Amino acid sequence: MLKEYRRALKDRLSPPCGKPYKKLLHPSSVEAAEAGRKDKLICYDCGVACDLGAMKEERLYFLRRMNAWSPAAPAPVPATDEPPPSSLLPKRARSRPTTRLAPQISLRYRLRYTKLGRVVFLGHLDLIRHLPRVFRRAGLEVAYSAGFHPKPELTFAPALGLGVASLDELIDIRLVDDLSPAELVARLQEKTLDGVSWLGAARLGDGDRPLGRVLSNATYLVRLPAGVDAESGRSLFAGSNPLIVRRQGDDGDGGSDGAKVTHQVGPRLVRGVRLGRTIDVRSSLLDVQLYDEQLLNRALRARLSWSEEGPPRSVVALRIRVSQDLTARPREVVEALWGREATADIEVARLGLQSGTAADPVDPLDLERLREMVRLASHHEPLAVTEAAELSGSPPSVQVQSSL
Ligand code: SF4
Repeated sequence: MLKEYRRALKDRLSPPCGKPYKKLLHPSSVEAAEAGRKDKLICYDCGVACDLGAMKEERLYFLRRMNAWSPAAPAPVPATDEPPPSSLLPKRARSRPTTRLAPQISLRYRLRYTKLGRVVFLGHLDLIRHLPRVFRRAGLEVAYSAGFHPKPELTFAPALGLGVASLDELIDIRLVDDLSPAELVARLQEKTLDGVSWLGAARLGDGDRPLGRVLSNATYLVRLPAGVDAESGRSLFAGSNPLIVRRQGDDGDGGSDGAKVTHQVGPRLVRGVRLGRTIDVRSSLLDVQLYDEQLLNRALRARLSWSEEGPPRSVVALRIRVSQDLTARPREVVEALWGREATADIEVARLGLQSGTAADPVDPLDLERLREMVRLASHHEPLAVTEAAELSGSPPSVQVQSSL
């Protein structure tokens, strides 16, 4: 403790234990590790009583397994005018702000993929971390945003709930590489995660809207519990009464509707604000259909990991609005139409994401139709579809495999 105290006064760090004494780094090759067999390892005698000899042997074992037989040659210094990495600069030079990088020339792509199998238990934020690794393994160079915290330029479709499979996920990505959509899909498919299959791609033009501005609705398949009558929910939907559910959550997640409530806490009554939000499912539910049993065949059930056993269960297809505002989740729709008990044993899968209207859905990879929609919406003089594609300079989308 006294030694540590003196070091702290001198603003010095103690080297980590297990490292060779008076060496800057651990040996990085079998040759270096064998040469340093007699080196003492740092140990502060904390009481764990490590076997330091075994630690040296273990390092040798792993270096052999990595085929690190001899020390790696120093990386060649690039013959450019670029400044050396900041770690090699003297301290005074290091404190200067780094030069802003020149903007990269990049191309935008829209990709379609599945989320099936074990990957459905990967949360949205985990998936956001995994997909850039897939891109890196596929040898793709993703463009990064500028600024103090550069981030890969990716735009995801609305997040899926944990455990919800999807046959149609979309992502917009900005790449430095210039690849054809088919080549991009093939390279990703080679290095993908188990359960993530890349189904199609399209190269976006400069004027094409990002994913968040083209998606209008999503279709979900919901398998109701045994004994629940799907028709009862459909007739509720056909009525005109509001379909109210409460989204539970704490202040940060579910928010509050501002309603004053009183809770009994022990012998006292405590007044507060009700947490959670009231949602009218009807405002975001566009359609409820009984799903055709013929379409839900064995292969599709297997892909969604839905069991074949047990009594027959009704399957409904829900079309839900995608919007920046508060929209209902599939589970909330089931609660509003079939009651809270029905939500205990449901299976949910996202079947597709669409642009356009419920009556006239448009595939978000069909760029020509999307451009036409934008043109009509902005009341511009209509152009021929082929002419519009030529103007945008983008090739048509490639659909490598159907999603179903
Ligand atoms: S005994 Fe404690 S201090 Fe020594 S090497 Fe093991 S963990 Fe580190």
